[in-house]
Amino acid sequence: MSSDVTPMAAPTGALAKPDPDACAGVVELVTEYLEGALDAAVRARFEAHLADCDGCDIYLEQMRATIAAAGHVDVERVAPATLDGLIAAYRSARGA
Ligand SMILES: [Zn+2]
Repeated sequence: MSSDVTPMAAPTGALAKPDPDACAGVVELVTEYLEGALDAAVRARFEAHLADCDGCDIYLEQMRATIAAAGHVDVERVAPATLDGLIAAYRSARGA
C-alpha cells in the first residue's frame, strides 16, 4: 500500500471533500445532511461528530430551525405592509 499521500494534503486536481470529523467539515455538510443527501458512511461520521461536539450539535439545530422557517416563507404571504416598507426603503435609498 502506498503511503505517499499524507492525510492533511488536499488531493490535487480534485475537489477536497469536507471532513465530517472536523467542525469545519460539519459546517460545510450540514445542508446536505438536512436534505438527506449524504452518503451513509459520511452521515455516520457526521452524527458521531455531533454526539461528541456540543458546538456542532447546536449549529445543526440552528440550521434545522432556519431551514424549517425558510421553507415556509412564501413571497405571496409577505404582508402588504412589509412590501410597502421595502418599496419605500428602496425608493429612499435611490434618493427618489
Ligand atoms: Zn464540531
